[in-house]
Amino acid sequence: MRDDIRSWNRLPTVGHRHVLEVRTRNDRLPLPPGDETCIPFGNGRSYGDVCLNPGATVLRTRALDHLIAFDRACGRVTCESGMLLADLLELVVPQGWFPAATPGTRFVTLGGCVANDVHGKNHHDTGSFGNHVRSFELLRSDGQRLTCSAEHNADWFAATIGGLGLTGLITQVTFDLLPVSNPFMITQGYRFATLDEFWRLNACAEREWPYTVAWIDCTRHSGRGILFAGQHAPPQPELPPWKDHHRDVPVDLPFSCINSLSLRVFNEVYYRQKLPRGRHLTHYVPYFYPLDAVKNWNRIYGTRGFYQYQCVLPPQVSADGIADMMRQIAGSGMGSFLAVLKTFGSRPASGMLSFPRPGATLALDFPNLGEKTLRLLNRLDSIVASSGGALYPAKDARMSGAMFRRGFPQWEKMLAFIDPRFSSGFWRRVNEPEG
Ligand SMILES: Cc1cc2nc3c(=O)[nH]c(=O)nc-3n(C[C@H](O)[C@H](O)[C@H](O)COP(=O)(O)OP(=O)(O)OC[C@H]3O[C@@H](n4cnc5c(N)ncnc54)[C@H](O)[C@@H]3O)c2cc1C
Repeated sequence: MRDDIRSWNRLPTVGHRHVLEVRTRNDRLPLPPGDETCIPFGNGRSYGDVCLNPGATVLRTRALDHLIAFDRACGRVTCESGMLLADLLELVVPQGWFPAATPGTRFVTLGGCVANDVHGKNHHDTGSFGNHVRSFELLRSDGQRLTCSAEHNADWFAATIGGLGLTGLITQVTFDLLPVSNPFMITQGYRFATLDEFWRLNACAEREWPYTVAWIDCTRHSGRGILFAGQHAPPQPELPPWKDHHRDVPVDLPFSCINSLSLRVFNEVYYRQKLPRGRHLTHYVPYFYPLDAVKNWNRIYGTRGFYQYQCVLPPQVSADGIADMMRQIAGSGMGSFLAVLKTFGSRPASGMLSFPRPGATLALDFPNLGEKTLRLLNRLDSIVASSGGALYPAKDARMSGAMFRRGFPQWEKMLAFIDPRFSSGFWRRVNEPEG
């Protein structure tokens, strides 16, 4: 068994029987022996087990890293699915283009962006990644190749966007980019003292800014925090110099550095940080990808790993539901290190199992303290379930089948599209009979 294939939060810890490389997009799929199943593995930036297949096989896709076509006039690009968003950015930003939706790290593959239908800070304005996908090729385990778009094989298109890698291997994807004038953003930070203030501020900010996201202090009930708004900068007479700096957490720490004391100190210092006055220019890398500045930051949680928890609550119950969750978290003494709050807009997602939908989404990180953490997450689940919300599979290592089915009512329709040789730890967990 190989135990070196992990997702970003290092949970669950599992062994894989086979790790197979997909070397070119034109070959047949490398399949494990017998009837063993497989799941594509992009860059393992999911938190949890959508990209893991305990006791069976993962198909590594990173060798599929070629740019196939780029129409610089209209910003349409075709890439192999193992290409990193970071590499795409290097190619397209200097040409005046930018991905229409980007997650909070650029070290994800394009296949992973499709299969989790990832969203960014501009969902209220632009929708999620899948809304900008024009077509892709899907390679099935029987060798069949399907070209999928909203017009051709439309049902396969909808099953594969947000389809958690279960419908087959995406070999290449064509999608549209946004025009930009330069690599800089105009940004502004707004401090808020309470959640009520956040909702008012956010409603105004969303009318004015295409990108908005808030950090909130989960160690307090009040829900104080900072809203970060941004837009791509218009042409500038002169651009400031910018250099990418990296730090590293070089070794696996045997224990977590995150505890109630370090959390309180971090949250206080972060809340009190000096915000530049008014609007200012920021390079796109620190604006979109602040965590990428510390390589291997997941190691600060120690070898036991951590849980990410991301939910979405419908608009009419968001304010009460989020306040309730904040009370639970602050009361547990396990305040999250990184708590991110944002609202999704009303643009319908393209995928049957896409997570983004109208409402407010809260993302949280908790060190793995075993039962204590799981009890808190179960309490948060009750709030999400009674609000009619959903949990994000890309950030999940423990949701129950009932929670999944409630949050993703199209799950049954999806069954017809799952490749018989594909499965994942996540998929078996949410489908196992509940006792
Ligand atoms: C710091 C950080 C910030 C993040 N911020 C956000 C955010 O703001 N918004 C958001 O939506 N997500 C966010 N994420 C989650 C991340 O964007 C997604 O989990 C993404 O899908 C990971 O891509 P990956 O290439 O690492 O894929 P993996 O994690 O390896 O796999 C993800 C899924 O895609 C499938 N897959 C991968 N490649 C293929 C392929 N070629 N064909 C078919 N299926 C495939 C896998 O089977 C799996 O189901 C964040 C993650 C981190 C670590």
